[in-house]
Amino acid sequence: MIATIAFASCNQQQKESTTAMSITQKEWGEVDGKKVYLYTLTNKDGDEVTISNYGGTITSWTSPDKNGNKSSIIIGFDSLGTYLQHPPYFGALVGRYGNRIAKAQFKLGDSVYHLAANNGVNSLHGGLKGFDKVVWDATIADSTQPSLTLKYVSKDGEEGYPGNLDVTVVYTLSDDDGLKIDYTATTDKPTPVNLTNHSYFNLTGSVSNTILDHKLQIDADNYTPVDTTLIPTGEIKAVKGTPFDFTTAKKIGQDIGAVPGGYDHNFVLNKKDTSLQKVATLSDSASGRQLEVYTTEPGLQFYTGNFLDGQFTNHDGNPLNVHTALCMETQHFPDSPNQPSFPSTILQPGQTYHTVTEYKLSVSK
Ligand code: BGC
Repeated sequence: MIATIAFASCNQQQKESTTAMSITQKEWGEVDGKKVYLYTLTNKDGDEVTISNYGGTITSWTSPDKNGNKSSIIIGFDSLGTYLQHPPYFGALVGRYGNRIAKAQFKLGDSVYHLAANNGVNSLHGGLKGFDKVVWDATIADSTQPSLTLKYVSKDGEEGYPGNLDVTVVYTLSDDDGLKIDYTATTDKPTPVNLTNHSYFNLTGSVSNTILDHKLQIDADNYTPVDTTLIPTGEIKAVKGTPFDFTTAKKIGQDIGAVPGGYDHNFVLNKKDTSLQKVATLSDSASGRQLEVYTTEPGLQFYTGNFLDGQFTNHDGNPLNVHTALCMETQHFPDSPNQPSFPSTILQPGQTYHTVTEYKLSVSK
């Protein structure tokens, strides 16, 4: 079944020269006895973002390159069955806690909370069945821009976390090719919360190319070094004079050889407050595409697909090998519940967690 909603706000002239803004809804399967759908948001330029209510997963973002050829800049798969084999968080909403919590435990008040150790001795991305593996309730928001609202209630004790957490995530595709992700959450007990989206990008539109020729600039003078299990040591270290210096744009491949395995680090963004600011710019001269990242968050996990091993195959039919895609996960710092010097991730009853991240795409000849 396919449902289409087209927005009446496009005037006749726009309709003739451009695609009407719309959302389509298509049945995609069933998980845990709940219906899973694919929603396609289309803006007036004809950019299309497809999102599932399974894991809140972005499965594709299709846009033209500088020659007008359309392809997806987000890695994804056509069948729900592939997502059920748990490829590592492709396009998914990650929670209750994005990235790692050391030794799969944390202390809050007088209690120690134990989580599943699903990444060596550590807990990663919310545990065994995080927010990426649940079916969210979806509604098409009443808006002049195509927008999808997803809701999920994470029960007290789920994956070891305290408190019933009521989560809402709104995806909106703007006319200027911005994909905005707005996260809110409330709780009835103090709990750590760190929500992010785990999209893997390749601006060339094909994973037959690596991302090593993409240029990246990150507005971060510091990063958080990690131990051998990728847990921050607690140090906030200057990037200057290290391979982590992306303060001016450089090719990702330039210094990656000096970082064992590749980049998988949290950058401490220079922004000083929680306003929405531009924090990173990714570009690819071959396609002419550029992606800017705006966020209210203090950190950015830059991950160069180091663990991709060819097991999964992208939309374009090519295997996902090492460094064929990258993530820019906006977030609080990893392991914050165990690191008193990091900005707090504890949400209290009565407070509202609210963060916004926007990925803005453009193309130049
Ligand atoms: C982590 C990586 C991990 C990847 C996929 C990233 O956020 O930092 O270490 O391999 O997610 O799970």
